[in-house]
Amino acid sequence: MLRRKRLKMDLRTLITLLAIASIVITLANSLYASWRVQRDVLIANTLESNRVYATKLASTTEMFFQLAQSQLGYSAKMLSGEMDNEQALQAEVDRLRLQTNSFNSVVVADASGWVRAISPESLRLKGIQLSTPMSEQALSQRKPLISRPNISAARNLVVLVSTPVWSKTGSYLGFVGGTIYLKKKSIVNEMLGEQFYRDGSSLYVVDDNDRVLYHQNGKLIGEKLPSIIGDRIAPGDLNGSREIDQADGESTLVGYATVPTPGWTIVAIKPTQTTLAPLSSLLLKVLQHSIPFALLTLLCAWILARLIALPLWQLARKASNMDAPGVSKEINGIRAWYYEASQIKRAMLTGIGMLQDKIGRLKFEVQTDPMTSLLNRRGLNMVLEYFNATRQPFAVLALDIDHFKRVNDTWGHDIGDSVIKSVAQQLAKSSRQTDVVCRNGGEEFLIILPGADRARAVDIAERVRENIAQLTLETIGHISISIGVAFWSADEMPLERAFKLADDALYQAKNAGRNCVVTSQPEARLAVQH
Ligand code: GH3
Ligand code: MG
Ligand code: MG
Repeated sequence: MLRRKRLKMDLRTLITLLAIASIVITLANSLYASWRVQRDVLIANTLESNRVYATKLASTTEMFFQLAQSQLGYSAKMLSGEMDNEQALQAEVDRLRLQTNSFNSVVVADASGWVRAISPESLRLKGIQLSTPMSEQALSQRKPLISRPNISAARNLVVLVSTPVWSKTGSYLGFVGGTIYLKKKSIVNEMLGEQFYRDGSSLYVVDDNDRVLYHQNGKLIGEKLPSIIGDRIAPGDLNGSREIDQADGESTLVGYATVPTPGWTIVAIKPTQTTLAPLSSLLLKVLQHSIPFALLTLLCAWILARLIALPLWQLARKASNMDAPGVSKEINGIRAWYYEASQIKRAMLTGIGMLQDKIGRLKFEVQTDPMTSLLNRRGLNMVLEYFNATRQPFAVLALDIDHFKRVNDTWGHDIGDSVIKSVAQQLAKSSRQTDVVCRNGGEEFLIILPGADRARAVDIAERVRENIAQLTLETIGHISISIGVAFWSADEMPLERAFKLADDALYQAKNAGRNCVVTSQPEARLAVQH
């Protein structure tokens, strides 16, 4: 039979590998889950804090513009009767500029745009006709306005907050306006710049035309940045937050709020990547906390794997050795502490019982002649091996039934068999415990008499011959046997020689007329006895 030899993994390694795999998968899964949760939380928190921050700044800015407009409105009323009083005009523009610090410059222009008073006077615009888009807008629209960013007559980037001046009779007299510098120091960029940078966030203020009014990077002021808050903000949408991919492909988290009076939008923005930067260190911490536990679990799994695998491993080792002596005792000693192992143990013990029973029976069958239950030649050989090993001398009697062919011929084979059986029975009965009786084949037998001397052996042979001769058999009556006797001792001859001598003596007995005993003499002379 071909046996394929393959290296098989043992149960302990399998369980350990299984434990490692499940721990690694669980760990990876929990890391991934916590990464997802932390990421979502970080993004949601940043969006919300940007929104809140933008909203707070928007409400402050709104309050400022409302206040600025009401200041200008009050001044416009005051000046309606004083448009020709240069001193009063100058005093009012100075007061407006210096008292509240809301404006970088304050101007009063008449209905044609001629500057009637300006503060600070150092701008030297008095007596000049304004022609900037924002002054023209104020002159044409004749209502409270906050202009788009523009280059002023004094070449500054500004927004103009203006209010018309009406006479008591309702005719248009001009406007009073305050400028707020966007690039130079002003109340607005001081207000916004207070916290322009907070944990990686940056702040933009854009007008309704996406033009930047404020950013910590002054170069961007006045530029158009259409993608900063993505889609247009719906009217009435005062504040909100979005995740937006900027024009350069960078993902950003944007919180925004509108300032209704000037129509501005305040945008607090933070790159998603910066927001998620703490994530890797967070995950590292999760990993640091998980690893000792995972190692402990692994150790427990390893110990458990050992405990589970041990009885099966021990049983498996015994399985290859089931016919060894004492193996059932060893298997009995294995602690099979759980159901499967104990069932296998029981099955193995039962199997061993059956195996040993069978081996015993086979040995018996191999060594025994089935018809007479005497030892066969193979059985005898085993006994002889023992005598040879222990140098135990013995006498050997070779027996053969006389004229047995005639029995068969006359009464048939079955009767012949029963004669063989009767002779065998008689031989077994007349031998001692220590004697070995063997059916040598056919109607021939051998009897070994351990330690018997010549006289005793001949005596016994004679008695056996007589017993058989006196035996009365059913149907056929009497039979006789012839016996050859020889002796063996380890010093004198090999075993085969003794059997040859006994056979020769038997041949002589047949020749001498049968129903007699012939003893092999030491010098090979044969003594015949009837
Ligand atoms: P001798 O006195 O010379 O021994 O004469 P014999 O007829 O006994 O001659 P031999 O020993 O040569 O013949 C033995 C016969 O025994 C031959 C065979 O047919 C018969 N025989 C051998 N074994 C058995 C057996 O198991 N059963 C039966 N019925 N006959 C057997
Ligand atoms: Mg014969
Ligand atoms: Mg014979």
